[in-house]
Amino acid sequence: MKKVLGLLCIIFITLTVFLVWKQNKSEPKNPYLEKGYTEEEVRKIETLNEANQSYLLETDYQSNILEYLSATDFKEENLKEYIRLGLLYGLSIEDTMYIVNHQYNDIETYDAKTVAFMHEPYYIHEYLERYLNYSNNHQDFETSSVITNVNSNLDYAFYTQDYTVDLDKRYLILVNKYYKLSSDYVPDNLVTIEAKYGKSLSLESTVYEQYKLMWNAAKQEGLNLYICSPYRSYSTQLGLYNNYVAQDGKVAADTYSARAGYSEHQTGLAFDVITPTSTLATFQYTKEFEWIKVHAHEYGFILRYPEGKEYLTGYVYEPWHYRYVGVDVATKIYETGLTYEEYYAYYVR
Ligand SMILES: [Zn+2]
Repeated sequence: MKKVLGLLCIIFITLTVFLVWKQNKSEPKNPYLEKGYTEEEVRKIETLNEANQSYLLETDYQSNILEYLSATDFKEENLKEYIRLGLLYGLSIEDTMYIVNHQYNDIETYDAKTVAFMHEPYYIHEYLERYLNYSNNHQDFETSSVITNVNSNLDYAFYTQDYTVDLDKRYLILVNKYYKLSSDYVPDNLVTIEAKYGKSLSLESTVYEQYKLMWNAAKQEGLNLYICSPYRSYSTQLGLYNNYVAQDGKVAADTYSARAGYSEHQTGLAFDVITPTSTLATFQYTKEFEWIKVHAHEYGFILRYPEGKEYLTGYVYEPWHYRYVGVDVATKIYETGLTYEEYYAYYVR
């Protein structure tokens, strides 16, 4: 009897072991669970595309996987890069995703300063080295000022770069103390201004049409605008600047007059406007100025050298100098308060 019982016991144990083994064999354990992921994490992982799923199988357990997968700005195509960058630099999930989503993930060092620059609204990635250098030389400047100044090229001295003006940008070209026009550049479509609108000199045709619309709108309000200086050729500018230098010296002349090739007047897109009875100096006290400073953008013009931005534009405040950039851009500049230097760097260049 004992022998029979012992035999039965052995059969029973063998059978149990066999059944357990068989069950394990037919239902293999989930590989993500085996890696240490929780059921919740696995459910999320299994919603990913095949490439990401196999990537997660090849790599170690990622303890922050849920944070990535649940973030609102999570982009599936960037998952691999989030993980790589996160592991390398110990950045926060938020910073890691921001950097990768903006494609700023191609540099060697991500210290706090670098990341702070990247979060600035007008950050230009290819200027990073310049931001870092400039901020090392100006330790007391705020991050946003470093961005503004470098975007305006202030890390270089005026008249040291001579970037070629990109004429393909048409009404959005930039001409300033860094961007130079050649001595033989003459704009297409110059037309002569009729006597009632200003001095009978010339202006680019679209700019002239827009100016006439503005002139008429002002006229309806009983206001009189008058262009006293529109297009100037290279040689006119050269003569003008040389006279100012003879009169006031080079340092002073540079604050209010452009050297030849660097003047917006050579573009045909800019003009100085006053009233028939005011001068450049008194224009800012007229009703016409009060009107034009809030309506110019409706016709595509910007007050090009604003008050308080002299260090960015390189010119003293010029209430009389307007530049055509088109209605959309002029409106954006009017609303944001950016200088054209800043706007150009971020949106046009
Ligand atoms: Zn001017």
